Amino acid sequence: MKIFLGSLFFIGVTPKTGVTPISYCDMIEVMIGKKKVITKKSEDFSRWYTDVVQQAELADYAPVKGCIIFRPYGYALWEGIKKALDAKIKAMGVENAYFPLFIPQEFLQKEKEHVEGFAPELAVVTHGGGKKLEEPLIVRPTSETVMYAMFSKWIQSWRDLPLKINQWCNVVRWEKRTLPFIRTTEFLWQEGHTAHAEHKEALDQVHAAAQAYEEIFKDYLAIYGITGFKSNSEKFAGAAASLSYEALMPDGKALQSSTSHDLGQNFAKAFEITFQDQKGKNQYVWQTSWGLSTRAVGGLIMVHGDDNGLFFPPQIAPIQIIIVPIYGGDEEGGLVKQYVSELKSKLIEFRVKVDSREEYSPGWKFNEWELKGVPLRLEIGPREVKSQTVMAIRRDTGDKTSITTSELTEKVTMLLKTQQKDALERSRKFTEENTHLVDTYDQFKEIMSGPRGFIKAFWCENPGCEAKIKEETKATTRCLPLDAVEEKGKCVYCDEPATHRWLFAQAY
Ligand SMILES: [Zn+2]
Repeated sequence: MKIFLGSLFFIGVTPKTGVTPISYCDMIEVMIGKKKVITKKSEDFSRWYTDVVQQAELADYAPVKGCIIFRPYGYALWEGIKKALDAKIKAMGVENAYFPLFIPQEFLQKEKEHVEGFAPELAVVTHGGGKKLEEPLIVRPTSETVMYAMFSKWIQSWRDLPLKINQWCNVVRWEKRTLPFIRTTEFLWQEGHTAHAEHKEALDQVHAAAQAYEEIFKDYLAIYGITGFKSNSEKFAGAAASLSYEALMPDGKALQSSTSHDLGQNFAKAFEITFQDQKGKNQYVWQTSWGLSTRAVGGLIMVHGDDNGLFFPPQIAPIQIIIVPIYGGDEEGGLVKQYVSELKSKLIEFRVKVDSREEYSPGWKFNEWELKGVPLRLEIGPREVKSQTVMAIRRDTGDKTSITTSELTEKVTMLLKTQQKDALERSRKFTEENTHLVDTYDQFKEIMSGPRGFIKAFWCENPGCEAKIKEETKATTRCLPLDAVEEKGKCVYCDEPATHRWLFAQAY
């Protein structure tokens, strides 16, 4: 049956016929239960999302509700982010370390806002080694408290500053509503924590981290977004100020994709982190913390892709090039195999995979790697061997280019670069087209009950108005963009004077 399907397909792709045989093959493969079927992105975005996550083998649901298993293909995305971001973190002079998973309960209670913010979602260990613990342990929801207890021991003098530490780890927040990668009870992230002698220096660090995140999102994940300050009610529990990167998803909801916090001296006071300055005077340190989590993988899946499945921008794609050999007859098949292996050796600078499985037809493979979002497919059959070419197909546009062997690396580099650039441009264009400048509350409500998206509207910065807007439209302030200019306006909710247009959206 399998051989039959393969040869059937091969007859179909004979270039002169000019027909697309995939649908015919697909039909048979659906009939025999081989083809994966996903909901169309254009028809039902949220079902498409959960379909692709599972069908592309990115993640699976864990036995414990709200947790997911990162399957190798999904974990490879996180590894890609980790590699790129870790280099940036180190370039900021930050060193990696590792702190324990368990935090004594009393630590968490030291900073008032912090404990209030996290209390509802804490996982608490009450028993260990078969005995009830004298003091319950908290499974870290974030590591400020356990780290800063140590910071207070390690920092004595101005000579010990700045102290810059990052850790890659898992954290647990008991979430009520979960969605793979976007919001899970346990997730992976990095958390950077620094202590400085001067507030100015800490602020520089907050902005440097925000900048590094923006580069990861734009240059690697091709996700356009907006960096800005969170409002008081939306900022991190215990922070003096928070910056976030807000990206618009295809359903018009915003994803807070990373955060960087100016902690001021709040934690320094709670944990007694002091240093003797150069004049011999005791001072509290100024601190920062900043994080990017596996939620970024969720954003990556959502932003790109189409009805046929995923699309991963080449910079982050675990597989950048998939080679699908079309073997033909026995004699031709041997030549194709040899040609494919020669070409693969020319492409060592890329992440390349050859799908040489003979039990699947080329049509099935095309479908599979489209679903899995590999940016570039190279088809190689007897015809290509003869003409010393390959047929390259872009995943994002479907454009086909015949490339001669002599210019293979050069052309492939160009095609991947173009796809990377185009992906960010699509994301930017989508965001711009779905950002509404709004001056009346009626218009605000109309947009939030309809197409959604970002709204730029004046807000008086009174938390009461913010709360009412959230209650009535489900939209929250996402941030005050860093490039927002001071203007004279009236609050979209209460008409009181306002100085800036804030970015609003319904959020994940
Ligand atoms: Zn107001």
